[in-house]
Amino acid sequence: MRRQFGLPENSIRPKSLRWSIIPSSSGVLLRILLLSDIHANLEALEACLVAAPAYDLVANLGDIVGYGASPNEVIERSQSLGKIFVRGNHDKAATGLLQLDDFNPLAAAAAMWTRDQLPPEHHKWLQALPQGPIPLEGVPQAQLVHGSPGDEDVYIVSIGDALVPLLADATPLTFFGHTHLQGGFFANGNSADGFRPEYRTVGQAESVPLQLKPDTRYMINPGSVGQPRDGDWRAAFALFDTEAQIVHYHRTPYDLKAAQDRILAAGLPPRLATRLAAGR
Ligand code: ZN
Repeated sequence: MRRQFGLPENSIRPKSLRWSIIPSSSGVLLRILLLSDIHANLEALEACLVAAPAYDLVANLGDIVGYGASPNEVIERSQSLGKIFVRGNHDKAATGLLQLDDFNPLAAAAAMWTRDQLPPEHHKWLQALPQGPIPLEGVPQAQLVHGSPGDEDVYIVSIGDALVPLLADATPLTFFGHTHLQGGFFANGNSADGFRPEYRTVGQAESVPLQLKPDTRYMINPGSVGQPRDGDWRAAFALFDTEAQIVHYHRTPYDLKAAQDRILAAGLPPRLATRLAAGR
């Protein structure tokens, strides 16, 4: 998937390319655990938390619920991890903020099932999650979104999709989710491209580092915790080390069978269980 191309001479040039390491307000550099698209998969979330290296705070990029069978458990676990959240389209759909017309039948069935499971306090909490982009406290070069900086519901799948937000947005580093595809995009003065971490195994816990370069803008997707769609069944997450300026991509196996059994026992569409094994 690696592909480089020169931007035309008269293309938009990012305004502030210079990266500098800016400590947080407390003067402490941070290790930020990035979780996205957990989708009510408690087994995958717990496995990520076990596999994660030490971190200072957690940023959640949305779609906490939908598809999986443990919405309330995942909401409570997510609440216990911190206060940094961006809402996703499934969080909106499960609380009536988004019509189900644009959802495929599987997603709509899961959203309606989820809606029926939520006690009032969880419904209220999900519904009040903030719309991205939101700033990342202590890291002024970075922002958090679910889909794209310009539209929370837009899918950034290709470098073509990423180019405008990469070059036009004022913030040089955007963490996003929504596509369930771990990887990202970069642009600098000469080139722009997409990238995916390359892992050596298909079933073990692994991590791949991405060293951020100066004068380069990034959109980084930590991948989906609870329903990966990049052909890798393992739960995905990332850790951003602001001091080293490294994003560590991670994959970890989890108790797939338990997550599938819960989906089937809940009466959700069986396809929502089988797709987890394929990572699609
Ligand atoms: Zn999602």
